[in-house]
Amino acid sequence: MANVAFIGLGVMGYPMAGHLSQADHQVSVFNRTQAKASSWTKQYSGKMASTPKEASEGKEYVFACVSKDDDLREVCTGENGIFAGMSENSIFIDHSTVSEKVTRELYSIARSLGVGYVDAPVSGGQAGAENGVLSIMCGGNEDTYAKAEKIMQCYARICRRMGPTGAGQLTKMVNQICIAGLLQGLAEGLNFASKAGLDGNSVVEVISKGAAGSWQMDNRHETMLKGEFDFGFAVDWMRKDLGICLDTAEEIGASLPMTAVVDQFYKDIQSIGGGRWDTSSLIKRLQYFD
Ligand code: NAP
Repeated sequence: MANVAFIGLGVMGYPMAGHLSQADHQVSVFNRTQAKASSWTKQYSGKMASTPKEASEGKEYVFACVSKDDDLREVCTGENGIFAGMSENSIFIDHSTVSEKVTRELYSIARSLGVGYVDAPVSGGQAGAENGVLSIMCGGNEDTYAKAEKIMQCYARICRRMGPTGAGQLTKMVNQICIAGLLQGLAEGLNFASKAGLDGNSVVEVISKGAAGSWQMDNRHETMLKGEFDFGFAVDWMRKDLGICLDTAEEIGASLPMTAVVDQFYKDIQSIGGGRWDTSSLIKRLQYFD
């Protein structure tokens, strides 16, 4: 069993760190808001640290799951940051969804310290984290990844190396690009069904068995038809992710016309107070602006 640290006990990080503890690893945790770390140590076996550096000292693996590029920079660098605590030959695993740019920047610092780096964003949401069935898309060198994979298995349904450092974040971008267009299509279809006087649930019962079926259709159509969005993956998060996709697309010369439009639709949802709503709230926008 390994000595590990987990930084960032949010919706995703809290249960992931819990799985590490339940897999009998020795876990130290740090969370900026201390109350979350206190409740984590009451629920699971592990220690609470007062800085990312303290949590990371002497650990073989250090995990982070924080919000955005600047947050990751903040927890990794600086005199009380993760890298100040990590020793040579230890491995840093980043589960945050961030840009490839910040990933490369932090990887180069880690490399200069002799620390291994795996970018490992996840898909599967809160339920996937709690049930230990996340899809994890990774970037990093083969040896480092092989070691990290063994530890991540305790909360993964699938964990795969997609290429060198940054490839995990690029794969997560593909995931978000695919979801954005798909959700807008689903919102338009369900809204159209209602306007046409059809029963949305019956429509889905039939078409979900054919070529139109999707995870979003299976798991979101009922709440979309009821107008319930107070759960799930927040629009604010999706805009952060689509911003990363659009910036990267510009750098690599990829065209993302649909993603750009859906990003603006999410901006509309934020303007009507829906920043915390689930991403399936695109149907509410259609109804609101109809
Ligand atoms: P969250 O609940 O908002 O948690 C964010 C965590 O990061 C909290 O522990 C927060 O500390 C910490 N944090 C943020 N900025 C920090 C800073 N500057 N310094 C120190 N700590 C900081 O978010 P989440 O839902 O767990 O998401 C985490 C990451 O996973 C994001 O990149 C998100 O895009 C990605 N993700 C989320 C989901 C999902 O369904 N939620 C799914 C896939 C991927 P405090 O407690 O002090 O705020």
